[in-house]
Amino acid sequence: MRDMQRKTDPRMAAGLHEQVSVHFSGLSGRDLMEPLITRVFPGRVAMVSSFGAESVVLLHMLASIDRATPVIFLNTGKLFGETLAYREMLAERFGLTDVRDVRPDPVDAARSDPHGDLWNSDATACCWFRKVLPLQCALTGFSAWITGRKRFQSPGRASLEPVEIEFDRVRVNPLARWSPADIAAYAAKHNLPEHPLVKKGYPSIGCAPCTAPVDAGADARSGRWRDQDKSECGIHFSDGEIQRGIASISGDD
Ligand code: SF4
Repeated sequence: MRDMQRKTDPRMAAGLHEQVSVHFSGLSGRDLMEPLITRVFPGRVAMVSSFGAESVVLLHMLASIDRATPVIFLNTGKLFGETLAYREMLAERFGLTDVRDVRPDPVDAARSDPHGDLWNSDATACCWFRKVLPLQCALTGFSAWITGRKRFQSPGRASLEPVEIEFDRVRVNPLARWSPADIAAYAAKHNLPEHPLVKKGYPSIGCAPCTAPVDAGADARSGRWRDQDKSECGIHFSDGEIQRGIASISGDD
């Protein structure tokens, strides 16, 4: 299991997934992250973080394992100022040395969204060039990536596994089985700073134009793309869903 291959084809990836699942599927949180970062994929794993409402938990765990692990931050150009300030503060507080601000390609932006209001007419296309494409580029060369998704967040994530295969890469969801109470308890135990918008009614935080506050007790993600038939930005879609997304955006579907 030590120092697995840098690049894999789909068949090799399936074998890799099986090995990782057998060894690690019963773990979660830091217990899952530590061996993958230090022994299985040394130097070839990145965390993707929105620096949103619950991101602080995984970032704290990561810092306790290896502060030099790359953290990919998708700076879409549409984020809240509070999120940008929170990203700076957490990186400094935790001593994270490789937070990568990943931005949309300026040529794509000029061509796809010259007025900056594409989110209002075609959110899928907006997410595509501001999030999906930049992330695909940023993950080049990595064998595994870590996300903060949880089962409780939405029906679409209800069966989320801690370890998934995605193309030729392993996707790790250390908090998949965690509850809101687990997350709150961890944050309280380690005295972790809260995103400043949480207190203002934002339990889930993405881009400013597409995130609204929600009433107390409401579905945390109900403020995302409110009034739209959309619940995910697309960065976590499976292969088939991504292909349908490409077809949809290019007008082929
Ligand atoms: S969340 Fe909204 S503003 Fe952000 S990339 Fe998607 S559509 Fe665009």
